[in-house]
Amino acid sequence: MKHHGGLTQIELSGITGLSPATVSNIVKELVAAGVLATTMSTRSGRRAHQVTLARALGLVAGVHFSERHMRVALADVAHTVVAEQHMPLAKDHRADNELNRAAQLITDMLESVDATHDEILAVGLAMPAPMNVSSGIITRTGIMRGWDGVPVAESLGIRLNSPVYVDNNANLGALAEYRTGALRGKPNSLYISVDEGIGAGLILNGEVFRGHNGTAGEFGHMVLNEDGALCRCGNRGCLETLVGGDAIIDSVRAGRRGLKLHDVVVKAIGGDAASIRAIADAGRHLGIAAANICNVLDPDRIAVGGELSQVASCYSAQCGMPWNGP
Ligand SMILES: [Zn+2]
Repeated sequence: MKHHGGLTQIELSGITGLSPATVSNIVKELVAAGVLATTMSTRSGRRAHQVTLARALGLVAGVHFSERHMRVALADVAHTVVAEQHMPLAKDHRADNELNRAAQLITDMLESVDATHDEILAVGLAMPAPMNVSSGIITRTGIMRGWDGVPVAESLGIRLNSPVYVDNNANLGALAEYRTGALRGKPNSLYISVDEGIGAGLILNGEVFRGHNGTAGEFGHMVLNEDGALCRCGNRGCLETLVGGDAIIDSVRAGRRGLKLHDVVVKAIGGDAASIRAIADAGRHLGIAAANICNVLDPDRIAVGGELSQVASCYSAQCGMPWNGP
């Protein structure tokens, strides 16, 4: 229906192989449930019932915070994105300000598609930190200073007067890749998000695995060098101190103030030797960490997303499996 825009009941019967009477009964039930709508139209000189998806089924909103960006999207219930916005965030932003901005963005985007808050069925919120999905609070302090102790789902829900569901961004990335993307049909798989921060989402036996405290998949805080640089989590030598946005920027920053990870990615794609080297070094560390995960979990497949995946090469030699891009 979504692809055709609208079909007559006779056409639906032809496509589905169901009898016209059965199609008529199913359409009546779905119209009563508010899923479909019917209008009378004329096809080949004959009057016919035209069947379409109900216009007022509602919208869903997705909000994705990362360390330096906020992305907001509105979609209909058929997963079609109808509006999308992206906004940079200051390095040490505060939760209250950014939740206000997210709510304002959603309001503006609703207006841009002639919709209202009443039409939002639910909001999904992705956070770059381990989350308690029940309380909506970050479970490991120090990962996102300014957000510790804030019930983010509840706070955004109050601002929007809508139900808000929160989870770790890598968990949601894993779920999305498993449902519709590179991990489809792979019930034991891993999604690695390589952005300013590093995260991973685990799909085990077809479900997102969060662990006892919701901190499973804290891939970026796997210790690779116990005497290494101090990490924002309080440990030393975490993967993120070698592969994260700050580490990559620091390694190429000489004489380039205000450099962002996106700039390094663009320069690497453009052939800049220092940027390529910095990202290749990061990729080597990432490959070693992924190989360790492979030894523990033996996943069907690993998919990699996030800003750095735009320059992904195949690191499969490290762990002997395909390396899928974003
Ligand atoms: Zn760490």
